[in-house]
Amino acid sequence: MPTSEEILARLARIAEDPNRYAEAWKKARGRKVIGTFPMNFPLELVHAAGALPVVVQESGQPITLGRTLLFEFYCGYTRSLTDQAMTGQMEVFDAFFLVDHCVALLGAADAMRFELTDKPIFLAQYMASMDEAWNVPEIRKQIDLLRAQLEEFCGVTITDAAIAHSIRLYNRNRQLLRHLYDLRRAGRIRITAGQMQVLVKSSMVMDVEEHTSLLADYLAALEQENGFGEDLVKLHLSGHFCHAPPIALLDMIESCGAVVVDDDLFAGFRYISTDVPETGDPADGLTRWYFDRNTNVPCSTQAQKTVDWETYLVKSLEKSGAEGVIILMAKFCEPHMLYYPELRKELDRCGVPHLLIETEHLGLPLEQLRTRVEALLERVSRGAVASPAPARHLQPHP
Ligand code: SF4
Repeated sequence: MPTSEEILARLARIAEDPNRYAEAWKKARGRKVIGTFPMNFPLELVHAAGALPVVVQESGQPITLGRTLLFEFYCGYTRSLTDQAMTGQMEVFDAFFLVDHCVALLGAADAMRFELTDKPIFLAQYMASMDEAWNVPEIRKQIDLLRAQLEEFCGVTITDAAIAHSIRLYNRNRQLLRHLYDLRRAGRIRITAGQMQVLVKSSMVMDVEEHTSLLADYLAALEQENGFGEDLVKLHLSGHFCHAPPIALLDMIESCGAVVVDDDLFAGFRYISTDVPETGDPADGLTRWYFDRNTNVPCSTQAQKTVDWETYLVKSLEKSGAEGVIILMAKFCEPHMLYYPELRKELDRCGVPHLLIETEHLGLPLEQLRTRVEALLERVSRGAVASPAPARHLQPHP
């Protein structure tokens, strides 16, 4: 039985270089590898078609040729996608499927379509207005469209039974990851923010059954602890849509004397927050999932009157005992930038110390940022701030 460190090291290698994993998977099985984009595409559909769904990740390579197709004021993720397309880093993918949530992502998809003429890119446009009753059948139509496109592209029939099977596999995977989150919130295990990112990010790019099996081994091998140590400041990491923040940044934050106890990062809890209903029509289940996720962990790319991100955030702090928040924002991420004032206002109203860190594709000034993180931790440690006030009560989405 491998140790938890050995399992984590294996998952870290895959999360670091998902294309290599996908190439080996494709060679072994002779099936298609399909790139999907964050943050709303239901991977279950691709899995049910017998292909490997891979959430395409930001590359660790500098952006070179990609500069010619997208402006510098696009987020690092979309510029990296374009650069990967132009520098031959996307060979392993047979096609791409995406659900639109952001104009920058659409720009990247157009640039990729222009560059990768041999790789089809399928787009479904989901409405972001979550309260309208008419939106439910509209999203269902988009799911049916994606299913038909996948069937045609993969040359298979995707049966309801196959989708239901895939839903169960992905739910099991998400449940194990959420169990790790629960253990971490309760202080029963020590998983660093960087390690949690590896666990979630690898789930985005691996064969789901293989990943679940490794997760189960990881859980069995983990040594449970009692508490984190009194002197560490408990933090919640928030935000960072679409791609994973640099692990060096997460390590630096914790090296200042903090422990991350929770997050709502996309390459984190946001990604695994919600299961797809397992009863009833599976395509209806995938439709429901789109709405349920926003109720569970609201996102500023969607509009819903009955929930909001800032209320969710403050409630999460009560649950995890986090004493401060670091908001990680990908530079030029418009949906996040425009919503940030709401988050800041609510955290200020509740007396929660917080810090905003913007990330770029490469080249973060870690030592400068260290000073800012240390200042945040100092504010928390001095107890200058009262505990969070009760969050405003909002009715959950029906
Ligand atoms: S949501 Fe933000 S990070 Fe994602 S593609 Fe749009 S701008 Fe980039």
